[in-house]
Order: sequence, then structure tokens, then C-alpha cells
Amino acid sequence: MTTAIRKLLVANRGEIALRVMRTCREMGIRTVAIYSEADRLSPHVRYADEAVCVGPPPSSESYLQTDVIIDVCKKLAVDAIHPGYGFLSENANFARAVREAGLIFVGPSPEAIEMMGSKLGAKAAVSTYNIPMVPGTPDAISDREAAKRTAAEIGYPILIKASAGGGGKGMRIVQMEQEFDEQMERAVSEAISSFGDGSVFIEKYVTSPRHVEIQVLGDQHGNIIHLFERECSVQRRHQKVVEEAPSAVLTPEIRAEMGRCAVDVARACGYYGAGTVEFIVDDQLNFYFLEMNTRLQVEHPVTEQITGVDLVKQMIYIAEGKPLTIKQDELEIKGHAVEIRVYAEDPANNFLPDVGTLHTYVRPQGNGVRVDDGFEQGMAIPIYYDPMIAKLITYGATREEAIEKMIRAIDEYQISGVQTTLPFCRFVMEHEAFRSGQFDTHFVQRYFTPQVLQAQPDATETQLAATLAAWLLDQRKPKAESAATSLPVQRSKWKENRLR
Ligand code: ADP
Repeated sequence: MTTAIRKLLVANRGEIALRVMRTCREMGIRTVAIYSEADRLSPHVRYADEAVCVGPPPSSESYLQTDVIIDVCKKLAVDAIHPGYGFLSENANFARAVREAGLIFVGPSPEAIEMMGSKLGAKAAVSTYNIPMVPGTPDAISDREAAKRTAAEIGYPILIKASAGGGGKGMRIVQMEQEFDEQMERAVSEAISSFGDGSVFIEKYVTSPRHVEIQVLGDQHGNIIHLFERECSVQRRHQKVVEEAPSAVLTPEIRAEMGRCAVDVARACGYYGAGTVEFIVDDQLNFYFLEMNTRLQVEHPVTEQITGVDLVKQMIYIAEGKPLTIKQDELEIKGHAVEIRVYAEDPANNFLPDVGTLHTYVRPQGNGVRVDDGFEQGMAIPIYYDPMIAKLITYGATREEAIEKMIRAIDEYQISGVQTTLPFCRFVMEHEAFRSGQFDTHFVQRYFTPQVLQAQPDATETQLAATLAAWLLDQRKPKAESAATSLPVQRSKWKENRLR
């Protein structure tokens, strides 16, 4: 049985709310935005057909308010909720409450979310399939001495991980046995304070690891396909900043094998919707299952670019109960896509958030450039949420072309008022290790120091002219719309970085 979705509420904010709404508009589905008091003027609020304020700025009082959100749906005769990523997207209780309220949750079943929400639960669920896993303890550690023996068997360094961990948090590397007890205590107390669950387990620390993940789509009729991989190894604090598809190093055989494993992982939890199966790949290209993310990923656009599949549209069809119409053997990789995450962070200062007002904000444009963002010039970046300003995605016939377009697009991007990860990403794009494809998750610690940003090029005449033109345009607008109060003095964002 299929149920047509006519009106959809996006329980999220910023770029992902806009991204979902754009597809809804293309599909003729009406949209409802929710927003906190800090986001009153956000583009996602203006873009939606209807918008409702759900509370004060802290997300616990607004974007995470299940009852309030469901109430809005009832009042506005909404049929379905898309949770985006973050916030309530991987909250099984939320998915259950949505279902119990007679609404459609655009995502997997609460049972699948629950099963994959725990790293140990996920490993147990897939254990009957032939899926390679990093050597380690299969259960939560209750006997520390036994765990030490396992650690000695698999060999140091090892990683202690929180079963409920996420977002790169709740992991501790143990280099040698003498450090074991101390790191264990820290890991458990961190797991309790951050996730309310002290279960931890051990994994072999894969040296020279690459993070490669497979996008899957499953319908409610048992059909599951994969849409190839995304390489996400350039990370800071175990969090991704640069992603690409396809990976520069996978062979067609390994790709097919990882795809098969990812489909099996999805099958193991009766998965439907869009999901991502994460693997760690070592320098010999052995791959191991890490975990499954039961939602749309931040980096999903690179997959959309190389496959031509709108993942949000597929999520909506699946939620309506329609069978997948895409067949695995019809899918092929066309070209190459790279994404960088533009965060309001200071790469010269340990990537600490640098929120403030976007005095200048001019997006790059042109062939092969996609910008998914949720800000306009003059807006302030709220301190309450993730400081990501935008995702910049470029697409080319080859990896080289996508990278060249990325450098061009980064140079066109004009942001002043906050420090951003743009100069860092430009450094990555030009780096020989990235260019050659021979890099791993240690890229940042191995190659990056704030000094390398000093070596970045000056603004060209063109950039300076563009900045000036943007400023002049802004001055012509009625004052209420304009937030740029002074002539942007920086010659370029690179120069400004150095001056500050
Ligand atoms: P999270 O849920 O916090 O994202 P993951 O298990 O997905 O945690 O791991 C996040 C990152 O940590 C990976 O992308 C990788 O860089 C690193 N990592 C995880 N497990 C290992 C491992 N066994 N060996 C080496 N690095 C690892």
C-alpha cells in the first residue's frame, strides 16, 4: 500500500532543511519549517510554505521538542516528517512517536535505528553475515583483566570506544598496556557523561586508516541497493571536512565487495530509507565494518552528483511505500565529485568555532559548482548549533577536474566576519598527498600547521573587484536588509586571515 505525502515538515534547520524542501517543491509537496527564536530570519524559514516557531534558541528547548513538533504536524495537517541529520534523526523514540501519531517518518523503522544506534548492537546484528570486522571485543567490557588479555592478543595500539558514541566522540587510543587502566577509566566516565551509557569495547587501532562509507537505499519491500562509496578520510577531531566520490583508491572488485557487505548490513536490520554503512580501510585495502548511520549524511551530495540520484526524493518515495525503481546493475559512477565543509572555525587556532556575523557572503558559481547552505550575507551564525556555514560541492569528468573546480570555487567564495575552513580546504586540494590519493585519516596531524596558510596566494585583481562590487550592491539595498556597515577592507579572505 502506498500513501502519498502532500505536506512535509522538516524537523531541522539550515542547509539540510532547505535541501529537503527544495526536493519537496520539485515533487509538489507542501513544506513546513520549524525554527527556534535564533533562526527567525533563516532562509529555511522563508523558503517553506509555512513556518512555526517551536521555542527558544537552545536545541533542547526547540528542535528537540518531540511533542511540540508533533503538535505542529497535527495543527497544520502535515503527513510526514523528514528529520534531516543530527537533532532527532537517529532518535528511535522520536521515530516511534511520529509513527504512533499516525504520521510518516521519512527514515527507517525505530527498530532499525535502535539496533544500529549502538555500535555493539550493530556488530551483533551483522555477525551472521560474512562481514569483516576490526578485531576486538564483541561485547561491552565487564572484566577489565580479560579485556587487557584481548588487547595484548590483538596488539597495541588499540582503541577504546563507547558503544553509544557518535560524532567522533567517545574514543581513546591506548598505545601500550601501561596506559590501559587510565584510558579505560577516562573512556567509561566520558561515555557516561556524554551518552548516558558507560558501555565500552576494544578495537584494534588500524594504522593508516581510511574512512570509506557506502550509501545504501532500501525500500519497504525488501529491495536494497548501494550507490557506491564516499571517501571521508580528511578529518579533524575524527570529524570529516573533505569528502569525495568515488574514492581514489578502491578497485572495482573491492567496491563491489564493500557494496555487497553494506547491503547485507542493511538487510541485517531490515533497513529501509537512505542509510550509510561506514568502513575503515587499511593501507592494504582490507576493509572492516565500523557502524551504520541510519539517516541522510551531511556528505550525501557527492553521491548524488556521481549517480544522478536525488537521495531525498528516493527517501520520500520509500516513505510513501513505493518500491525502488532503481536497479543495482543500472547504476554507474559518472565523473567525480568533491565536497568541502565550510565551517565557521579557525583552522589557525585548532579549528575552534569562530561564530560571528557574515559581513561579506558571496557564493561561488558556474559549471560544476553546487553550494548547499543556509545563510545569507549579513546573518549571524548562532552559537547554539553546529557552526557549518555551507557545503561546497564540485563535479567534474575526472577527479583532477573536480579538484581544479574546487580550487577555483574556493577562490571565488567571499566570506568575511568569521574565520572559516576555506583556506584549510584549499591547502588540502593543493596538497600532493591529497592529489595523489595517498592519504589517510591522519592527514591533518601529519601535514597541517597554521603556518601553511601563510603561503596561500594573494587576491587577484578580479577577486578584489568582486568584493568591491558585492559591497557596492549591498550599499544600494534599503538599510533594513543590509548588514554590511563598513567597506570590506580585506583584499581577500586569505589576506584577512593573515591580518587578524
Ligand atoms: P563515530 O560514531 O564517532 O563517527 P566511528 O566508529 O564512525 O565513530 O569512527 C570515527 C572515526 O574514527 C573514523 O572515521 C576513523 O577516522 C576513526 N576510527 C574509528 N575506528 C577506528 C579504528 N579501529 N582504528 C583507527 N581509526 C578508527
